[in-house]
Amino acid sequence: MRTIDLRSDTVTLPSSEMRKAMADAELGDDVFGEDPTVNRLQEMAASLLGKEAALLVTSGTQGNLAALLTHCRRGDEVIVGHLSHTLNFEVGGASALGGLIMKAVRNDANGRLNPGEVRAAMRPSDDHFARTGLICLENTHNFCGGTVLGEEDLAAVRDLADDHHLPVHIDGARIFNAAVSLNIPVSRLVAFADSITFCLSKGLGCPVGSVLCGSREFIEEARRYRKMLGGGMRQAGILAAAGLYALDNMVERLAEDQENARIAAEALAEIPGIALAPPPQTNLVYFTVEGWDLAAFVRRLAEEGILCFDEGGRIRWVTHFGIERADVEEAVARLRSVMAAGIGLHRAGV
Ligand SMILES: *Cc1c(COP(=O)(O)O)cnc(C)c1O
Repeated sequence: MRTIDLRSDTVTLPSSEMRKAMADAELGDDVFGEDPTVNRLQEMAASLLGKEAALLVTSGTQGNLAALLTHCRRGDEVIVGHLSHTLNFEVGGASALGGLIMKAVRNDANGRLNPGEVRAAMRPSDDHFARTGLICLENTHNFCGGTVLGEEDLAAVRDLADDHHLPVHIDGARIFNAAVSLNIPVSRLVAFADSITFCLSKGLGCPVGSVLCGSREFIEEARRYRKMLGGGMRQAGILAAAGLYALDNMVERLAEDQENARIAAEALAEIPGIALAPPPQTNLVYFTVEGWDLAAFVRRLAEEGILCFDEGGRIRWVTHFGIERADVEEAVARLRSVMAAGIGLHRAGV
């Protein structure tokens, strides 16, 4: 039985073409700024995103932390969504390592921040208060269902930030999914931000790496924080080569993942007891399963060769490179038979 791994787009493996690009990469010591392939990736990423400069980092977590440290001083407050990855899934690094205070503002079902609530979270100048240092957005929004923030959503927050002279950072781990979904150049989505992190190691299919983009001055400073965080890598061009290959060849195909997510969602929605939570906008499909203990349900699916996670009272399926339409249909068929055989057997708590 073929295993269908829907746990995350991080499980993608480099294609043979990508591996060849890695094997052939021209290398140097990137801590000295001498790796030509890293330099080419950084230039390409900056120009694609419409920013002056870019920095290859080890992970999205490191890119976001380096960005927060660069934008803020110790003791500053960072306005983030209450369901954001940075607040919930990055080990509290901004506070533990950066002395920053994370100030949560409610995410709506679409992953947006309400401008009125953001305004209310900003601190007036007063000796009693921490300074507000930064606003963080997430696009696509992971926990809200791979939801897309459009240009109006971003512009509203940008206007507020400008009124208060605050920088905006986008955690754009899956920003290319947002751009492909909206069918606009990614540069238009990130024009509203001072800095942005995106992941090479998710839907773009690279083995390792993320990229932080911003102004030249910002990236120079972020480079120091990357080194402090242990992210100064030497012949990193071997990883950057995968990134260059991905930016050339793996962006447009995200549309296939999103189409497969839509196909999965439509088929799942027809199964009694399953409800989409919410309907997918990109490559993340979240759904609830009535009458089952979710951990037991995930174990039953694993026995049927379907790997996935339960998260926040829902099951999450992620489509990605290596998952074809036929795999999605097969996964739904296996899930359907688990449901049919298991009614009443796996009630919550059993
Ligand atoms: C995956 C992810 C990250 C972190 O990326 P890592 O490379 O796993 O550290 C940050 N933000 C979002 C929204 C993510 O989905």
